[in-house]
Formats: sequence, structure tokens, C-alpha cells
Amino acid sequence: MIPTHPPLLTVSEALKRLLAAVDPITATETIDTLHANGRILAIAQSSLIDVPPLDNTQMDGYAVRAADCQSGAADLPVCQRIPAGTIGTPLLPGTAARIFTGASIPAGADAVVMQEQCEFDAASNRVTVRHAPKSGAWIRRAGEDIAAGSIILAAGTRLRGQELGLAASVGLASLPVLRRPRVAVFFTGDELTMPGEALKPGSIYNSNRYTLRGLLEAAGCMITDLGIVPDTLEATRASLRRAAQGNDCIITSGGVSVGDEDHIKPAVQAEGRLDLWQIAVKPGKPLAFGRVGEALFLGLPGNPVSSFVTFLLFVRPLLLRLQGVAQVTPRSYAVRADFDWLKPDRRQEYLRARLNAAGGLELFANQGSGVLTSTVWGDGLIENPPATPIQRGDMVRFLPFAELMS
Ligand code: AMP
Ligand code: MG
Repeated sequence: MIPTHPPLLTVSEALKRLLAAVDPITATETIDTLHANGRILAIAQSSLIDVPPLDNTQMDGYAVRAADCQSGAADLPVCQRIPAGTIGTPLLPGTAARIFTGASIPAGADAVVMQEQCEFDAASNRVTVRHAPKSGAWIRRAGEDIAAGSIILAAGTRLRGQELGLAASVGLASLPVLRRPRVAVFFTGDELTMPGEALKPGSIYNSNRYTLRGLLEAAGCMITDLGIVPDTLEATRASLRRAAQGNDCIITSGGVSVGDEDHIKPAVQAEGRLDLWQIAVKPGKPLAFGRVGEALFLGLPGNPVSSFVTFLLFVRPLLLRLQGVAQVTPRSYAVRADFDWLKPDRRQEYLRARLNAAGGLELFANQGSGVLTSTVWGDGLIENPPATPIQRGDMVRFLPFAELMS
């Protein structure tokens, strides 16, 4: 039998080809750690200090020598008071120091007894320690979290609140980060109308503009938005030329099929280089990929769910690789299906699904590629291999949106 169509590319093969074309950004800038949220660290960072810098107490209580308290009823004079932020003086044998959480352990002390286990007598300024502590009790050791000289953050790390906190905990006031990717977007389709305008018969709102911009912002991109472009070859070509100026990447929506009103293919061929791929994926079969000038070009299908899914599967990894991130494929989890899906597609499917309280997955009833409601209802996508029926109780591969949008 002679095949009438070229074979469809698998998702992983298409992704491999996309990533191979990416030249990661190398330009860096140094910015205030306070403003580095979402940025990609350009150079590994190490600590010049121990964290915590000194041994300190985890509890309010009394710093003692453990050996002085083994009777379980030691009666000791309280010779000093050490609040957090002070150092105190060396602890003499047979004495105790009142101490507060975070304060440094005085030299000579080797344990803290929490105040609930002590009785303080104000008149005599003595404490009865009703506990026999082990040496080291309730003491956080210097360098226990981070030892001076150790690497705290690897190059290529995306900085979130916790990474910024870690950098700040060793005193880093600024960080070297990669410049943000510059991405141009436009939206093809004569039927498109902007929210705020009245819908004419036959028109629809340009929802992809909002979906894609939201996803691009979450991926740390600087966006040049050229808006809606009419379905003509000339307008599409002119927009491509503008989009290529000074941008790393051009993302478009719609017009990637081969109908009379689909001008992306000839326009990219005229202005640059194009591969139009038929990918074995549902939703989202047609995906255009190429280059216009220095910019990578990615043409997503117009159907709102196809646009959303192909962004997550192809654009996001490409943007991460552009920023030098090594691990660009999302983590996925084996989760139990609490539904039947007995008529799978021959293409690999990405089904919108939600986690239920029993730890299983439920499927959105309408898996149509225009049904944007499914993307809001769902917690993520089930990656279902080609022609694989799912029966209630089967384990399936689940990609949570949380893994696909950071
Ligand atoms: P196309 O890929 O241009 O053939 O469009 C496929 C379907 O997606 C059509 O029903 C379009 O009306 C719809 N569509 C295209 N662009 C958008 C957009 N920006 N927002 C919402 N729907 C769109
Ligand atoms: Mg169209």
C-alpha cells in the first residue's frame, strides 16, 4: 500500500527537532535580588558565610552545660540574659543563661532546656532545671543549613520566592540573570474581534491573545503584541517582518492549515524558512515551525484548546531552552483514572482532567478543541498514547498544569 500522506511526527520527535534549533540566550544582567522573581540565574551562586552564622537556640529557655543538669532537678544561678541578636558572655560551670529563640549559644554551654521544663525563682534569680538534656539539645549548629563555600543555586535555575530567600539568607543583594526572551505575537483571522467591541454576526472574540499572553508572561517573556492580522498574504508577510525585528521568537495563532484563508505557510516561506509539521497529537495536529530573520517562528493552530495545548507541549520547552534551562520536559505522575475512555484517537491525546478527592482523575465531559472551559475546569492534562483505551482503574500519565506553567 502506498501512503498518501507523509507520516505524522510524534510529539517527542517534533520537540527534539524544535529544541535542536534553539540557540540559548547568553546575554546577562545583574539585578537586585528583590526584583529577580521569575528570572533565570546565569551563574551558579555560592555562599561566603555559614548559615546560621553561629550556634543558636531553637527554643526560649535556659542555656546550660548538660553535665550540670543530669540530676533532673539542678538548681542553678541565672547569670545572664541573651535575647536574639546578642552574643552573651562565656557560661561559667554550674550556671545557666536565660536565652531566647534565635540567640547565640554562649561559649561553654552545650544544651538548651526549654522554659516549660524549668522553674525560675525571681527572688533568688535561680532556676530549677527539671530535665536532663542531652548535649546539643535544641541547638541549631552554625553552617547546619549552608556551609561557607558551598554552592546554593545552580546556573539555569528559575528563581522563585524560595530561591530568592536562599540567596538573601547568605547576603546576596544582587544576582546575575539572563536577559528575558523577547517574543512577538500576532493573531490571524478575519473573524476575530477584541473584547470591548460588539460581536458582529460570524465573529468571535480573540481569546488566544489572552491565553497566549498569560502563558508567555508566566514563562518570563517580554512581549511585543502586533494584535489581529487580516487573512491576507500581504498583511501576514508584513507582520512577520515586523515581528522578526529584535525578537528571539515569533508566535502566531491560526492560519496554519492549508485552506485558502491560511496564509501562514506561504508567508513564512516568502520571508524565511518553514517546516510545516503534521504532528500525531490531539488537539493540535498542524504546527508550523521555522525562522524569519534571526527569530524562531512557531505557528500554533487557531482552535483555542489546540493553541493552549501546543503552547504547553512545544512553546514552553522552547522558551525554557532559550533561557538555558536543561530540564525542559515537565514532570508527570501516574494517577488512577476514575473514568472510561474507550474510543481513543490514533494520535496521542492530551485530555483535560481534574483530580478528585479520592486521588483519582475525572475527565471533562466535552474534549472538543474549541472548548476552553475544559482548561479552566481541569487541573492538568492526561497524556494518552496513540490508540490506547482507558478503563476505570487504569493508571494514566498526568501532567498537572502546575508543572506546565512555572
Ligand atoms: P484556524 O487555525 O485559523 O483555521 O482557526 C481554527 C479555529 O480557531 C477557527 O474556528 C477560528 O475561528 C478559531 N480561532 C482562530 N484564532 C482564534 C483566536 N485568536 N481566538 C479564538 N479562536 C480562534
Ligand atoms: Mg483562520
